[in-house]
Amino acid sequence: MEIKSSYYAIIPAIVRYNENIPPNAKLLYGEITALCNKKGYCYASNKYFAKLYSVSNNTVSNWVSSLVSEGFIRIFVNQEDGNQRKIWLSSKEFPVEGLQENLDTSPKKPVQNNTKNNTINITLIHTMWNDKFKGTNVPTIISINGNRKTHLMKRFKENKWTIEDWGTYLNKIKKSKFLMGEETSWSVTFDWVINPTNMTKILEGNYEKENKQPTKPKLHFSEFKLDATGNARMGYCTKCNTSDFYDQFKIAGEDSRCCNADLTPNRR
Ligand SMILES: [Zn+2]
Repeated sequence: MEIKSSYYAIIPAIVRYNENIPPNAKLLYGEITALCNKKGYCYASNKYFAKLYSVSNNTVSNWVSSLVSEGFIRIFVNQEDGNQRKIWLSSKEFPVEGLQENLDTSPKKPVQNNTKNNTINITLIHTMWNDKFKGTNVPTIISINGNRKTHLMKRFKENKWTIEDWGTYLNKIKKSKFLMGEETSWSVTFDWVINPTNMTKILEGNYEKENKQPTKPKLHFSEFKLDATGNARMGYCTKCNTSDFYDQFKIAGEDSRCCNADLTPNRR
């Protein structure tokens, strides 16, 4: 990535006069604003910034952390997309609630110090949900307001959640076949998972156990008959009894090609 951004950088007063972050982190914030697209995020890596400013990755990492901890940017790593990192701006167009007023304050006014815990970026929460569950049984959402918003904010407050915690929560949901509607016709909805009782159950891992396969006695590959070449072993599909040859060492854990069912050494 060799793009030096030609756009203007914007460093709002609340960032410029912040005393908790290093001066260069403010510069980095400006750089990020110049890179961000209309939607308010960019994909630049620490490595990219390190090269741009001729500093170490660690230095950039510290600057980024300081911006995150002051609530000026949000980081979202998409594990399904090669751990690609999205940096979200907490800007005017994409306000972090509570920060918005501060962005407009003149430098003379004392800057409120408690922005961090009061900031819940609804737009980001919304986008993360839809990104995560697009193309699954779990319905995407059109908006977060009214009761839904009230409930959501309550949960964030109760759990003292950051946006990263929200990401972790969504990952937890996605790991459960049951919650994802892969076991029955029922799947979660946004409103269901922000219900306090349901949230507690999910957080406590009540739905994770269901992914575990019932334990079955494990076969050893040597129990399967070796073929004439000595490189493959024959297994029978436990569902349809079709025989086929599989890797001689991996056969015990393999699923049948015909039905994706377990393999057995002998015809049933
Ligand atoms: Zn079969």
